[in-house]
Amino acid sequence: MSPTNNWPSPIRVYSDQIPAKKPDVHVVTSGGQRIPAHRSVLASASPVLESMINRPRNRRSSSPPTVRILGVPCKAVAVLLRFLSAAKCSEEELDKYGIHLLVLSHAFLLPQLKRICTKALSERLTIDNVIDMFQLARLCDAPNLHLKCMKLIFNNVKSVEKTEGWKFVQDHDPLLELQILQFINELQLRKKRRRRQVHEQSLYSQLSEAMECLEHICAEGCTSVGPCDVEPTRNRAPCGKFATCEGLQLLIRHFATCRKRVGGGGCSRCNRMWQLFRLHSSICDQPVFCRVPLCRQFKMKAQEEKKGGGGGGDERWKLLVRKVVSARAISSLSLPKRKREILEEDHEAQEMTDRSSWELEA
Ligand SMILES: [Zn+2]
Ligand SMILES: [Zn+2]
Ligand SMILES: [Zn+2]
Repeated sequence: MSPTNNWPSPIRVYSDQIPAKKPDVHVVTSGGQRIPAHRSVLASASPVLESMINRPRNRRSSSPPTVRILGVPCKAVAVLLRFLSAAKCSEEELDKYGIHLLVLSHAFLLPQLKRICTKALSERLTIDNVIDMFQLARLCDAPNLHLKCMKLIFNNVKSVEKTEGWKFVQDHDPLLELQILQFINELQLRKKRRRRQVHEQSLYSQLSEAMECLEHICAEGCTSVGPCDVEPTRNRAPCGKFATCEGLQLLIRHFATCRKRVGGGGCSRCNRMWQLFRLHSSICDQPVFCRVPLCRQFKMKAQEEKKGGGGGGDERWKLLVRKVVSARAISSLSLPKRKREILEEDHEAQEMTDRSSWELEA
């Protein structure tokens, strides 16, 4: 008794071997060769093969049914049949017959084989074969391979344009050439859009950082600017965001003394500071007491505008506020948890030492 027979009957054993049953179907290949196979294996793997096997035939014929798989090398068909019974094929077989197997997997609706071939061919993409693979991916409806080809073409347009494959497409398939060029154009636009988004995002996170610094300057003071009830500390160490904080302190000092601001003469630095105060007020969630100058005034003004039915028109400002708020949320999330805890601890510790130094000096 073979070991397979020891299994309880409902369990099917998948093995590398063709089942011990006698072959009951013949697969005819391009060279006229016949490969014996098993009806049940072919039919259970592929509905297309099943219908080919079951198509009506001459009743008087006693020979087993035949399935014709033409147009690919006989060895590729042999690899396919082995895959259908053993569910695997070697890297060497994929090297040699990957293209044929992808075509067969598409024709016979074999998703597992298609995935394997797509992956194998994607790994074997080169500048020289990419146009052929691109066409193959389109014919066989293999989106992953298609995308990989497009990316390779996009990143190597100049080299791909020199290949035989590209020249062939130019001469024989102007529609395909147009589609590739359109796709490249689209990817370029997308890349530009992405770059602009990254640039905008960095602006919003700079603004969000400026907001943090403004709150920190107004609440605890930094190297050269601080709240009026806190004595300036001469030897205070720069804070963690000093690059932004220092610029902001200079701007606040300017704002406090600029004559043009008082006359409303359009000082660009004062205007910038004014906008930063307004932005703070728009995102400030301190309901009653906030130490940032003009916060309450801006809030009251906004409320009055709301009551008067105005204030709804400033969509660009609202959008800016939303973006800065989300940049703030992102920056607080992007720090790993442990680092965030350390920073919070550091911040608390620094606050305590800062406070004691004020008390000592006062
Ligand atoms: Zn600071
Ligand atoms: Zn000014
Ligand atoms: Zn505020």
